[in-house]
Amino acid sequence: MEKYKKIGIKLTPQRLAILDFLDGNKDHPSAEEIYREVSKRFPTMSFATVYNTLEALAERGNILELTIDPHKKRFDPNTELHHHLICTKCKRIEDVHTHFELAVPGMHRKGFEVTGNHVAFYGICPACSHRT
Ligand SMILES: [Zn+2]
Ligand SMILES: [Zn+2]
Repeated sequence: MEKYKKIGIKLTPQRLAILDFLDGNKDHPSAEEIYREVSKRFPTMSFATVYNTLEALAERGNILELTIDPHKKRFDPNTELHHHLICTKCKRIEDVHTHFELAVPGMHRKGFEVTGNHVAFYGICPACSHRT
């Protein structure tokens, strides 16, 4: 598949299924959710395969690994700079495509050359606030 040429890992049908599921996916699914979906097509695929594929893709910068929730990594196929709104009740994650002028003042930069940032906004989503 042309669009996956640059990925840099061997594309087995299982891995392609993972990429297809993530393509354009805005739900920021967890490895468990990805596994649940993809195993419908590949029932013999193990969770470890899914997890290792996700790690390999994240390592190569093909997808983003969001470690907002320490108990559950979430994956984002949108690797362009964007921020996130996180519901603290249902863990729903929404994209925020606003540009923020954020800078670490020199004295706090500890010698780092800063190349990016990610802002996580916490709150209660509309569905959860209606429920209470
Ligand atoms: Zn919610
Ligand atoms: Zn996102």
